[in-house]
Amino acid sequence: MERESIEMDVLFVGAGPANLSGAFHLARLVKGHNEAVAKGERQGKPLGDIEIAVIEKGATVGSHILSGAVMDPKALKELMPDFVERGAPLESPVKEDYFLYLTKTRAIKSPLTPPPLKNHGYYIVSLNKLTAWLGEKCEAAGVIIFPEFPGAEMLYDEADRVVGVRTGDKGLDREGRPRPNFEPGADIKAKVTVLGEGPRGSLVKQLTQRLNLSDGREPQV
Ligand SMILES: Cc1cc2nc3c(=O)[nH]c(=O)nc-3n(C[C@H](O)[C@H](O)[C@H](O)COP(=O)(O)OP(=O)(O)OC[C@H]3O[C@@H](n4cnc5c(N)ncnc54)[C@H](O)[C@@H]3O)c2cc1C
Repeated sequence: MERESIEMDVLFVGAGPANLSGAFHLARLVKGHNEAVAKGERQGKPLGDIEIAVIEKGATVGSHILSGAVMDPKALKELMPDFVERGAPLESPVKEDYFLYLTKTRAIKSPLTPPPLKNHGYYIVSLNKLTAWLGEKCEAAGVIIFPEFPGAEMLYDEADRVVGVRTGDKGLDREGRPRPNFEPGADIKAKVTVLGEGPRGSLVKQLTQRLNLSDGREPQV
């Protein structure tokens, strides 16, 4: 069985808001460093082209992100201060908050809104659209995105160091037998692998068991 092997410098697994922000920021840092060195504003060597990839199990970036959300824009502002001008898909800013007690026929308004429920200054977004937009910004910054690439297992070297991810085989029947359109998963190797699978990621689970990462730590809730 011929398995494709792809070499990257940095591999992000999962195209959620966390990883896309990380990939975008890294691409910008590399570009900024190379430009500063070329202009003589910074000592050191240029990094050249750093290949940054994001793999996503969904058919498109954002397709597995289903939540509508109230978004505190603090982190997005730090990442991209002009996110509004750059067309971030924001449905509406939150202008008013109410805390209501609902009966069968009435809504009784509380004179106070508990602080954790105050969303003034935040935005109502579709996280699916926002993530797709972040994906476009990543690609414009030179990040390579592979949709429909589910990370299936971690790859290790002889010293047990993570060296990338093997993606899942395609074209298997229900019993796991190859169909005529069978395609073995690819090995994506990288110097650095970042797992951003969201909560309860399958690769995080494998890694946690193998390297005993949860020993002495609180379980995920
Ligand atoms: C119902 C609900 C409502 C929420 N409401 C709000 C809200 O109002 N405001 C707010 O700020 N937050 C809200 N959140 C939380 C918010 O959605 C998360 O904090 C945020 O999405 C986490 O981002 P992430 O990038 O870490 O992970 P995720 O958004 O979970 O993204 C992970 C991505 O990785 C992909 N992936 C996972 N495993 C693999 C793999 N092995 N290989 C390839 N790809 C993989 C997934 O398909 C997904 O695209 C809500 C969450 C839920 C579930």
